[in-house]
Amino acid sequence: MLLRDERRELCAVGRRTAETGLVIGAAGNLSVRVGDLVAVTPSGVELDRLTPEGILVVDTEGRVVEEDGEGVPSSETPMHLAIYAATDAGAIAHTHSTYGAVVAATMTELPAIHYYTLLLGGVVRVADYAAYGTGELAANVRAALDGRRAALMANHGGVAVGGTLAEAYENARLLEWLCGVYVRAKAIGEPRLLTEAELGELTARGFGPPAFPPR
Ligand SMILES: [Zn+2]
Repeated sequence: MLLRDERRELCAVGRRTAETGLVIGAAGNLSVRVGDLVAVTPSGVELDRLTPEGILVVDTEGRVVEEDGEGVPSSETPMHLAIYAATDAGAIAHTHSTYGAVVAATMTELPAIHYYTLLLGGVVRVADYAAYGTGELAANVRAALDGRRAALMANHGGVAVGGTLAEAYENARLLEWLCGVYVRAKAIGEPRLLTEAELGELTARGFGPPAFPPR
């Protein structure tokens, strides 16, 4: 079985993604890249019900290289592949988390409500709306992710990348936490936002996401 360890890791992180409320139903998808291959979760299967055999391995064109089960790759596989083609990310987590969806439905970016936004590479952009699974959505998300570890997707959800799957998952959780802080802050007043200078001071001290490991 190709990418056995990565398949197991996708199952474990899939359970955590569902248990921590970042997805509902069969929404959301995860992938890991190894060389020119990508292990991706199947379409239409809840992330807490994944099996190693049900994970699909595809090449850079999205062709299934090895498939033990009956499934087909996630409908967002074109988005995952577009992100891998444009970055050195090693893993991707796409979620439909609540506060992320709230911000993605109302704003063009998640303002700098907390200095931890720098751990995602800076102010998180909202990718323009396009229908799920399309090349247009893939291109919009790729553009929104430029220089970032996460992006929101208008009227849809969020996507986070990392050097490892654990890192991509933590970035998805961080994105949701930041969106939750912003939305709740707006509920009780007008939040004070960090200035460019305040963010720049921390960036100059080296505060930011870890570099992707060499591929
Ligand atoms: Zn989605």
